[in-house]
Amino acid sequence: MSQPQRIINEIILHCTATLATQPVTIDQIKRWHCQDNGWLDIGYHYVISQDGTIHEGRHVSKQGAHCKGHNQNSIGICYIGGLDDFTGTPADTRTPMQKKALIGLVKELMQKHGLRPEHIHCHNEFSNRACPCFTIASFRRELSSI
Ligand SMILES: [Zn+2]
Repeated sequence: MSQPQRIINEIILHCTATLATQPVTIDQIKRWHCQDNGWLDIGYHYVISQDGTIHEGRHVSKQGAHCKGHNQNSIGICYIGGLDDFTGTPADTRTPMQKKALIGLVKELMQKHGLRPEHIHCHNEFSNRACPCFTIASFRRELSSI
């Protein structure tokens, strides 16, 4: 009860940059993050599998590690995929279930933290990476269309 609440003013979207149909578990991502970066926990707060299952990663009350310069007051959400199965190049590989789950989760978090669509961002707005392999403009259209 005495723990101060972390102020959330951004939600940042990511992908794992793995092949579209490759199954990746949250434990695998956690291992990658911990072994490669020396972190103690997975960098994302939520991970969404191809079947639309939402997995909780690092607790939202704790600062994540997913977007340089933007971790302190953000929530990081990552969908599994982001690379075309055949070409291995960046692509919006979200399944319909992933899209639905992502939009539902973002809307829920927006409501909970009093955020507006302009508070939602893609990793690619803050870095040269393709991640999450769609644009923030297209995602905001998705948000308002459902
Ligand atoms: Zn990212």
